[in-house]
Amino acid sequence: MGSITLNKVSKSFGEAKVIPSIDLEIQDGEFVVFVGPSGCGKSTLLRLIAGLEDVSGGSILIDGQDVTGKAPAQRRLAMVFQSYALYPHMSVRKNIAFPLKMAKMDKAAIDQKVADAAGILNLTDYLERRPSQLSGGQRQRVAIGRAIVREPTAFLFDEPLSNLDASLRGTMRLEISQLHNQLKTTMVYVTHDQVEAMTMADKIVVLNRGNIEQVGSPLDLYSSPRNLFVAGFIGSPK
Ligand code: ADP
Ligand code: MG
Repeated sequence: MGSITLNKVSKSFGEAKVIPSIDLEIQDGEFVVFVGPSGCGKSTLLRLIAGLEDVSGGSILIDGQDVTGKAPAQRRLAMVFQSYALYPHMSVRKNIAFPLKMAKMDKAAIDQKVADAAGILNLTDYLERRPSQLSGGQRQRVAIGRAIVREPTAFLFDEPLSNLDASLRGTMRLEISQLHNQLKTTMVYVTHDQVEAMTMADKIVVLNRGNIEQVGSPLDLYSSPRNLFVAGFIGSPK
């Protein structure tokens, strides 16, 4: 569970062809990072996978099922954004439980899932607090908790750490990597930060103006960049 296939996916906004045509295979359980400069189409590509935008052409398969044109709720993917988008008037517990309550799950089951997620994310002692009483890193963990309880087939992260200071970013990078090791769920992670890409990814997808410049492991890209753009972006001496 958790493979994602893009077949000739394209996206235009009016006259602007933001993504000309992308083919990509994401394996079940992989940690894939989309990296590239601001405006190259990373968020758009993630939103197409999530179903928050409709493709202009091509198709998207999740676990072999064609989900092109299907609503986000039918894709079982969980999106985690840079802005935490927590409900300020609700406790941590209620924030994490929210998607389950919307799905009308019974209270005992909700309590169990929230307790499990809080355990994984070290939030057990913070469940009755409001978001304003948490640090930036804790807030980000609550946002991840809200994604975990839905048991998605894949997590989609859009620059989740860009609002955090440098030292906290380092800690959270590790935490998300550990979460991946623990859950073994597919994660697609968007960033413009080369360090995040190199340290977290199984597979890096380097994007430039809506096109894939190269796909490979961090070591592949570092040791054999296909062109100057990749070399310059990944920071290899070539
Ligand atoms: P990134 O996340 O890599 O910074 P985006 O995917 O946000 O890039 O944007 C890629 C390009 O698409 C940019 O030129 C942006 O202005 C354009 N774009 C993104 N969303 C829209 C939209 N809803 N309407 C028009 N243009 C958009
Ligand atoms: Mg973006």
